[in-house]
Amino acid sequence: MLSCKHIVDLGTDYLDQELNFWKKAEMKMHLMICGPCRRYIKQLKQTITMLSHWRMKQPTTEQLEQLKSNYQKAVSEG
Ligand SMILES: [Zn+2]
Repeated sequence: MLSCKHIVDLGTDYLDQELNFWKKAEMKMHLMICGPCRRYIKQLKQTITMLSHWRMKQPTTEQLEQLKSNYQKAVSEG
């Protein structure tokens, strides 16, 4: 089973469809049971969609850090 940390680390690969079938299945399973990670992936997806309108492929480090700190806050609040 993947941990929350893995989800955060693999988030962009997951959305870029760069993960293999099993990794993706593992992530999906984790997302089913873990609300904070679900929210993180959703926000990450929104960020990437927004950036793709500006023809930028990847979020900047600052944007990723922002998402991660939002996520960590959500986790610590339960
Ligand atoms: Zn999680």
